[in-house]
Amino acid sequence: MRIPRFYVTEALSIGQEFTLPEGTFRHAMQVLRLKVGESLILFNAQGGEYQARLVLAGKRTAAALIEGFSPLNSESPLHLTLVMAIVKPDKMDFALQKAVELGVATLQPLITQHSVVRIGKEQTDKKVQHWEGVVQAACEQSGRTCLPPVLTPLTLEQWLQQPFAGTRLILAPGLFPRINALPLDLPSPFALLIGPEGGFTDEEVAQCQQAGVVAVSLGPRILRAETASTTALALLQHRYGDI
Ligand code: SAH
Repeated sequence: MRIPRFYVTEALSIGQEFTLPEGTFRHAMQVLRLKVGESLILFNAQGGEYQARLVLAGKRTAAALIEGFSPLNSESPLHLTLVMAIVKPDKMDFALQKAVELGVATLQPLITQHSVVRIGKEQTDKKVQHWEGVVQAACEQSGRTCLPPVLTPLTLEQWLQQPFAGTRLILAPGLFPRINALPLDLPSPFALLIGPEGGFTDEEVAQCQQAGVVAVSLGPRILRAETASTTALALLQHRYGDI
């Protein structure tokens, strides 16, 4: 069986008897039902991961002895922000999970003209917290050693106003170049914009192009937003990253 991995925020060191924080405790004990003596991996996104063994498994508390450290780095050399229009919750979760597996560095939810799902100010924090949970679980599962931040949602105008030194791409169906036709020496970091279920409006695509964002196409078929993001990320990792 795969050794379960847990993200924690605390500092970790070899030889330490580490009391599992509440969320980790619930996941490890109540969901995975780990027993004393079983192995687990802890990481805190400060680089590498720690091998640990459960030494205490009580009803309310559990502790793991940290036995080793691996300075492994599973992060991609492609530094990419996925600027993802907010889509329906299950699709958004899927897109974010796959984006983490595919090595994105940062997640920027985007509000566009055709966003079907609109979230009020009061709901935004809850949404972001939920997405952070999706990202954390995907990091734990996929062996990532960093936790991509989920930024506060922005409108397209707000996002375009932000300075960005690198390459910005917008995915839009149409007669735009394919990802494999992009020059290999484009400056890093990258940002990739994906539209919502209803797509970007022509005006939004034009607005992006005027701001220097490069429009790219994924070919003649219309993909759902979550398929488009997953596909484009795989292609970009293949061309500029580590796939
Ligand atoms: N009805 C919309 C489709 C939206 S699909 C339209 O015709 O525009 C959701 C998003 O996925 C799009 O906004 C775009 O960012 C991306 N996408 C889907 N298929 C694509 C393709 N063939 N090429 C480029 N981007 C695509």
